[in-house]
Amino acid sequence: MSFLDELAAIVGTRHVIGPGDDQEPYLTDWRGRYRGAALAVVKPAGTQEVAAVVKAAARRGIAIVPQGGNTGMCGAATPVGPRETIVLRLDRMNRIRGVSRLGDAIAVDAGCILAEVQAAAEAADRLFPLSLGAEGSCQIGGNLSTNAGGTAVLRYGTTRELTLGLEVVLPDGEIFDAMTSLRKDSTAYDLKQLFIGAEGTLGIITGAVLKLFPRPRRRAVALAKLGSIEAVLDLLAAARTELGDRLSAFEVMSRGQIEVIAEHVPDVTIPFALDQPWHLLVEIVDTLESVDLAAALESLLAAAYEHGLVLDALVAASEAQAKALWKIRHSVSEASKRAGYVISHDSAVPLEHQATFVRRVESRIAALRPDARIVMHGHVGDGNIHVLAIIPGIAPDQREALSDVVAAINAIVDEETSALGGSISAEHGIGLANRARLARVVPAVEMRLLRQVKQLIDPAGLMNPGKVLPD
Ligand SMILES: Cc1cc2nc3c(=O)[nH]c(=O)nc-3n(C[C@H](O)[C@H](O)[C@H](O)COP(=O)(O)OP(=O)(O)OC[C@H]3O[C@@H](n4cnc5c(N)ncnc54)[C@H](O)[C@@H]3O)c2cc1C
Repeated sequence: MSFLDELAAIVGTRHVIGPGDDQEPYLTDWRGRYRGAALAVVKPAGTQEVAAVVKAAARRGIAIVPQGGNTGMCGAATPVGPRETIVLRLDRMNRIRGVSRLGDAIAVDAGCILAEVQAAAEAADRLFPLSLGAEGSCQIGGNLSTNAGGTAVLRYGTTRELTLGLEVVLPDGEIFDAMTSLRKDSTAYDLKQLFIGAEGTLGIITGAVLKLFPRPRRRAVALAKLGSIEAVLDLLAAARTELGDRLSAFEVMSRGQIEVIAEHVPDVTIPFALDQPWHLLVEIVDTLESVDLAAALESLLAAAYEHGLVLDALVAASEAQAKALWKIRHSVSEASKRAGYVISHDSAVPLEHQATFVRRVESRIAALRPDARIVMHGHVGDGNIHVLAIIPGIAPDQREALSDVVAAINAIVDEETSALGGSISAEHGIGLANRARLARVVPAVEMRLLRQVKQLIDPAGLMNPGKVLPD
């Protein structure tokens, strides 16, 4: 029996896409930077079928690239490299397995789209707080595998912190079932943590138990203009002091970033003249209906205005206006992609060093490449800032010629991030794009342990080869 026939016998003929045009959407990454090839794109319907596909591939030494919504930023879900490979998609595994209001937990198939999990939580009058621009198409398996962050980390934590249990098909086809909803469990090593953020290199996540939270009844959202990154950070400290855990998002955008949005996303309305270097989107929430959040936010911003931190601010007067302000923030990736060739970074820097980082990186990149538009946005409340150098007017066939520029800009960001005790990947992962940088920023002992873990769990190197670890 041919391999494709064997796959068809497991998942059904309709769910195996052989080479040809129908494979196209699965062979290229969201940014259009990488293109690969696959023997087949396979869509199993459940964990047992995933296990059977993995066993069949392992018997023949065929590699597997797990793919969720294919919205990742680092080329980690693209089947590149010399090995024979299949792409394994979990689209058909989109069942909400159960919701516990008492235990504040939801059990899901890993192929559930993030927005569907949010909706299922809301239907149970709970909140699943993970939120990001791609939430309408990214899958929980992809969120877990990149340890996605998004806009609510400040209050609720990263995907890792939102995870209670996990189900994984290991590279030999065995099922690791840790679908617990326990909040306390100190039984030996917490093995599920290895698979979170592993970018599909250690196994295929097929299910997860995730934390839920009380659903906020009210929110207030504001957009403010500030004159310096120091003012942004001072306002963050004041907001934490005044509003405590009500502060759920603190998202910064540089003026250049908003200009890019205004130029490339037609249905976004920017309510201000763009005459200051930093813009901040602040959200506060509460479960109590009776709390006047808009007044609390106005009072914070008014005090900040008096102290010269905030130069202008708009508190949304309605839910529709709040959504319109969030739309600006959620448009950054789409807008930047349309603006030119984007060399983007995903740095986390301790907040005390955030201002130094921003200044040093901006001036060094500007000196290296004066034609680049250097724009920034980020979840600054949790220390994560994305620095983007956008080079306009680059045709696809000219991209190769930019590889030296990309390397030089990456080196600047790596040097400054490391010098200030930061990370080059706050939430997007390493994938293909950042592989070569990993060894530069990670100590030798950590590299050795990473390689040993990979060797232990995936000795034949079948899971997402060529990703995360450099050769
Ligand atoms: C507009 C936009 C905005 C974004 N905003 C944010 C943001 O604010 N914060 C953030 O963190 N990210 C953001 N991202 C990046 C991306 O959406 C997230 O990283 C998301 O978590 C990826 O999910 P996915 O299902 O698309 O994964 P994919 O891109 O399909 O895969 C990503 C990685 O996970 C692996 N993988 C996928 N599913 C599985 C599985 N079931 N088992 C094992 N491995 C698997 C893949 O092999 C790959 O290594 C954004 C992306 C876009 C396009």
